[in-house]
Amino acid sequence: MMSDFSFQRAKTPKEAVILLGLHKDNKVIGGGTNLLDMMKEGMTDSHEIIDINRMGLNKIIRNEDGGFLIGASVTNTDLAYHKEIEKHYPLLSKAILKGASPQIRNMATTAGNMLQRTRCYYFYDTATPCNKRNPGSGCPAKTGVNHIHAILGASESCIAVHPSDMCVALAALDAKVHIQGAKAEKIIPFVAFHKLPGNTPHLDNILAHDEIITGVELPANGFAKHHAYVKARERNSYAFALASAAVGYELNDNLLGDVRIALGGVAHKPWRNTEAEIFLKGKLPTKDNFRKAAEIILEGARGYGQNDFKIELAKRVVVRALEMAINNEVQL
Ligand SMILES: Cc1cc2nc3c(=O)[nH]c(=O)nc-3n(C[C@H](O)[C@H](O)[C@H](O)COP(=O)(O)OP(=O)(O)OC[C@H]3O[C@@H](n4cnc5c(N)ncnc54)[C@H](O)[C@@H]3O)c2cc1C
Ligand code: SF4
Repeated sequence: MMSDFSFQRAKTPKEAVILLGLHKDNKVIGGGTNLLDMMKEGMTDSHEIIDINRMGLNKIIRNEDGGFLIGASVTNTDLAYHKEIEKHYPLLSKAILKGASPQIRNMATTAGNMLQRTRCYYFYDTATPCNKRNPGSGCPAKTGVNHIHAILGASESCIAVHPSDMCVALAALDAKVHIQGAKAEKIIPFVAFHKLPGNTPHLDNILAHDEIITGVELPANGFAKHHAYVKARERNSYAFALASAAVGYELNDNLLGDVRIALGGVAHKPWRNTEAEIFLKGKLPTKDNFRKAAEIILEGARGYGQNDFKIELAKRVVVRALEMAINNEVQL
């Protein structure tokens, strides 16, 4: 049952972080599509909800270097269908449109999508132990229902995955995260934002309690000429990824140049493996080379029983995405 909370609207990012710092259970709200579910399930205590949607962070601005700054409150729909984003970062548009449903994307914000919690069934079931929800209580998923769980980077404490599609594209694109803290602003690489579970699975990312995301910066190169997002899931809509791949590359005289490969649905964070990207650089875009790159990425993969199939599935998703990127094919 949802417990009582108060509500405030912040006018600026600085005001939002001051309000957050006033109580350990104060929380900001974006579209509310994840936070409100968790509050209704009694999974999280909220003392005060701080609305940050009227602080002017709903804009997409072109930077001088040719990149873009996406405000934290830009909705998934507005981002995916923004003309310049569709043109320069079609990988990002396609990844977003593979997620959730139109109604949810209309509400979901850029920052909220990054901070959505895992979809591990035990995490949402307050009758079961879960190290992420209740540190030290245990991880029933390791020996339980785990067909959706991690095959890379998991720990003894937690084998959950990060569920976002958008974040997989942002990891491949080498985006940066803009953060407002109590004392200062900072910018960090997107790939350093989310954490692996280790011994602290309750921490999904590096954001402190009194910090908020203000935006996401895209570098100028959006790999518009050769990119693909492939998502394998249990239903063809309204389902989270069992494994997904966001890829982009340059192709000069039929040789691969700069290559980006990020995986979703396989780890506690969007998974980048630069070793595989370096392996492909300078090579021909053949199925054989793509398969070798996929083998490199999944080298240390481990299943937990029900999710063993994801190791081969992830390899095939990577190969398929790399093949589709040659002609920018779109997964239906
Ligand atoms: C049925 C269903 C299916 C879905 N399917 C998919 C899918 O296939 N793929 C996919 O990627 N997603 C999927 N989603 C998840 C959906 O994309 C997320 O719920 C949504 O992106 C969260 O965004 P929000 O703005 O609503 O976040 P909120 O619920 O408002 O917030 C989420 C968290 O982020 C925090 N927060 C929000 N903004 C900030 C900020 N600026 N700074 C700091 N903290 C902040 C909140 O305090 C909260 O902890 C699905 C959701 C549902 C309900
Ligand atoms: S996998 Fe993580 S989220 Fe799921 S039960 Fe284990 S500790 Fe909890």
